[in-house]
Formats: sequence, C-alpha cells, structure tokens
Amino acid sequence: MVRTMSGIQPTGALHIGNYLGALVNFVELQQQYESFFCVVDLHALTQRPKAEDLRRNVREVAIGMLASGVDPERATLFVQSDVPQHAELGWILTCLTPLGDLNRMTQFKDKSAQQPENVNAGLFTYPILQTADIALYRAERVPVGEDQDQHLELARETLRRFNFVYGDTFPDPQTVRSKAPRVIGLDGEAKMSKSKGNEVGLFETADETMQKLRGAKTDPARLRKSDKGTPEVCNMFAWHGFFTPAAQREEIAAGCRSAQLGCVDCKRTLCANMEAIKGPIRERAAALRDNPARLDEILAAGGAKARAAAEATMAIVRDRIGVRARG
Ligand code: ATP
Ligand code: MG
Repeated sequence: MVRTMSGIQPTGALHIGNYLGALVNFVELQQQYESFFCVVDLHALTQRPKAEDLRRNVREVAIGMLASGVDPERATLFVQSDVPQHAELGWILTCLTPLGDLNRMTQFKDKSAQQPENVNAGLFTYPILQTADIALYRAERVPVGEDQDQHLELARETLRRFNFVYGDTFPDPQTVRSKAPRVIGLDGEAKMSKSKGNEVGLFETADETMQKLRGAKTDPARLRKSDKGTPEVCNMFAWHGFFTPAAQREEIAAGCRSAQLGCVDCKRTLCANMEAIKGPIRERAAALRDNPARLDEILAAGGAKARAAAEATMAIVRDRIGVRARG
C-alpha cells in the first residue's frame, strides 16, 4: 500500500496556514493511503526551546492534528523522538548530501536571518533529517506547503543518490499540494509562520481573530472607505478565497470595487467564515486537552507502529551500507 508521510514542528501554536497548507491534506490522504503523521520535535530543537515548552508544544500540535481530523484509527500519529531511527537515518543521509546542495536552501537563509544569535548546524542540515523522516516510511506522497518544495527536491535527489550507490531502496517521494499552498500572514508580505508573529492561530476565538484582523494589511491604495478598492491585491480577499463561498466572495469584491463595503465589514465577514471552521476544531481540541490519558495512549500506540515500520526499513539500510544491525 502506498504510504504518505508528513510532519509539523512543535515550535508554537498551529495557524491557519498549517491547516490549509498541510492538515487538510492529511485528513484527505488518510482515506486512501497508509499514513504517518509526525510531530517533529527533533526539528524544533533547531530553535533551542525550553524543555517544558517543547513538551507542551508537542502535545498541542498533536491535539491540533487530531482536532483537525487526523484519525488515529486510520493514520499513525506519533512523535519523532519516540522513533530514534529518524536520527540514525538522518546521519547516514548526511554523509550522502553535498554541502553545495544544502547551501542553496532558502529556508536556512530565512531562519538564520530570523535567529542570528543561533545559526546552528541543525538549521543547515534540517532538510536531511526531513529526508530521513520521509525515507524511513518509504513514503511516496508528502503533503506539505509550497515553502517545502526546495526541501522535497533535495530529498528526491538524496534518495536517488542512495539508490544509485547502495541499490534500489527508496521510492521517489511526490509532493501533494493543497488549494492553499502558501498562505500569506497578517503583514500581507511573508508566509504565515508559527515563529513570525504574523499568524491567525487555529485555536483562537473569533474575538481574538477579529482583534488581529483589524490590523491586517489590505489594499495599500485604499486609505478610507470612500476609496475604491482592488480585491486582487488585497491579502484579506485572498483569505476569503479559503473560507468564503464563491457567491459571497463576488458580493464582497463588487462592494470593495464600488467602495460600498469597507475593510472592517469585509474582515468581519471573513472572521465569521473562519470561525465556522475554527470553532469546531477549537472545541475538539478542548475536549482532547481534558483527556490527557487518551492523548498519551494515541501517541504511545502511534510510536510503536512507527518504530516497527522504521526498524523494518533500517534493517535493509544497515545491511546495504555495511553498518552493524542491533541484536
Ligand atoms: P516555523 O515558523 O517554526 O517553521 P511553520 O508555521 O513554518 O513553523 P512548520 O512546522 O515548519 O510550520 O510546517 C508545517 C507544515 O505547514 C508544512 O507542511 C508547511 O509547508 C506548512 N505550512 C507552514 N506555513 C504555511 C503557510 N503559510 N501556508 C501554507 N502551508 C504552510
Ligand atoms: Mg516552517
């Protein structure tokens, strides 16, 4: 059975970009493929989190995945550090990756600029660990946002190199895109990110969201309500594309162009339509938080299944490259 694999970093609260760019596809793909979804806490170490924050964020991201519709009966939901084979394969693939390939990665440049006081080697080799995440499950479908395109290309090249050197072992992982592969943040400029402060959180209430939307960038040429706006250049209108039905979107566009509808009213409608998605997710998340034993159980079962799958791959890998197996 074809496998799908993807991970989310426990670097902060999930946002609507994570939901629209990745999570909606997790829910879709789990119907069809053998699915592995992972909270990638080893990746998050590149941001040097406090231990207690990391522990809390791991649980919160897992809760977010479940609340968004990841079904532990269908998919294997687990935490990366519960499967030590990720780090093991990560090292093996590190020895197959040219420095020049890593040097081209724009995420490394972005993250280095974002945390100039902590430009660690893990930030640089991040895409290799990500390649290991995918390869351990011999995954063929990887649902991620557009920001991960470059990493996926590197993963394909690295795994082809492994196959060339050691014999055919790994399938080619294909990217699976959602309808919103790149959600721009409240600033109207950068990709929405957990670590950039430009996000609308998936668990936020409608009031909290409206508070943020008030300050969100719109059409820069529209200074007052009486100015006619251009929906095509407005990031809020782009967000309507993800949450608002086509007919209502037409009305909003017409109202904006004719200056009948102001930005605040446009944002109120957007907030209400977002709430229709976020509200039920927030409620399911609250119920999961109330039952920590259930989450422990899901993650323990997921970890055991993931370890078994990962170990099966590693037995082949160790044999092919000539390092010693355990036992
Ligand atoms: P960080 O800022 O810590 O890197 P992040 O918000 O970028 O956090 P990740 O954990 O790095 O989140 O990515 C999880 C998944 O969400 C990936 O598949 C990524 O491509 C996707 N994703 C992240 N941000 C967006 C976005 N703005 N639009 C669409 N998809 C996104
Ligand atoms: Mg990211």
